[in-house]
Amino acid sequence: MPDATVRADDAGRVSSQGCPSLSHMTVEKLRDPSESTSSTPIHTEATTAGTEQSTAAPEAPPRLPSLSPSRAADFKTCPLLFRFRTIDRLPEQPSADQVRGTLVHAVLERLFDLPASERTPERAAELVAPQWQRLLAEQEDLAGLFAPAPGDGAAAGDATAATAGDATVPPTLTPEEFLASATDLLSGYFTMEDPRRLEPAQRETLIEAVVDDRLLIRGYVDRLDISPAGDLRVVDYKTGGAPREAFEARALFQLKFYALVLWRIHGVVPRVLRLLYLRDAEVCDYSPDLDELLRFERNLLALWQAIERARQTGDFRPKPSRLCGWCSHQAHCPAFGGNPPPYPVAVAAPGAPLPTGEDAPGAE
Ligand code: SF4
Repeated sequence: MPDATVRADDAGRVSSQGCPSLSHMTVEKLRDPSESTSSTPIHTEATTAGTEQSTAAPEAPPRLPSLSPSRAADFKTCPLLFRFRTIDRLPEQPSADQVRGTLVHAVLERLFDLPASERTPERAAELVAPQWQRLLAEQEDLAGLFAPAPGDGAAAGDATAATAGDATVPPTLTPEEFLASATDLLSGYFTMEDPRRLEPAQRETLIEAVVDDRLLIRGYVDRLDISPAGDLRVVDYKTGGAPREAFEARALFQLKFYALVLWRIHGVVPRVLRLLYLRDAEVCDYSPDLDELLRFERNLLALWQAIERARQTGDFRPKPSRLCGWCSHQAHCPAFGGNPPPYPVAVAAPGAPLPTGEDAPGAE
């Protein structure tokens, strides 16, 4: 039975360096395993009433449009990027950093399946290869991330393309180096938390809620901790190799999005939104308040209206920024001399549903 008390030293270094917009706090106690609320679904019937849950009923109302934090952040970052990903659905080859992130998220999720006393760095390292094999079985083209065998010119081209725009990953990465780098990131995790002393209430869980009776907001939380007093702590693992400052606003937006969903589900404002930067072994905590979440909700609805206007007019403008360096679609972007594909007429039709795209569990 793990000690359900989490002391400040267990929570690791809590720092504002590099995350200036974040305030700090540490949750002192987590719920005892016997008090876990994991039997209480976060993906609730109540919040999905009128959406997917009821589509089979004869009198079911129309399915509501939905929005994930990733797609909302895409539109904020660059409306044209939103269009490419959500409407045109242009393919994107995941970078090695993204695939590594998916692998590390999977290992951290499985880690909490183990008895508390076995959640050690060694056991986490043992989970890396089996989880990688599982991911490969689900998505065979992931093998294209790696350097070719000597003399395999075609594969060499694939490997180089796979890492385009990813300056932190050498194009000669081998599978062994890739798995070792995932294990290194997990080592960073253990410097911040002791999972033997944690019993998460939820892991990789889809949460969703309806706002303003017209928009379903939904996404996967990496981890949700609930204290005996009912305090919620949302935890998000960040594994990317890109400079943090380039993505910090996006990370905070994502966490506020989850906080809003949880508040709409439970009527409780999460006490802590926690970012765990595995590469830097740094914890960033943020404590939202209700007024802030209400403002966030208004802004989210305004953002949705802007997305709807763009859908009807087809006017998704490029918004160049330093994040273009991580965009897979420069060849189609006017800001880089490219041309977008023809805008789908069906999407612009009055009342047409907007394909909003979905996040996958473990997405950064
Ligand atoms: S390259 Fe930049 S401006 Fe163009 S679509 Fe991508 S993010 Fe937007």
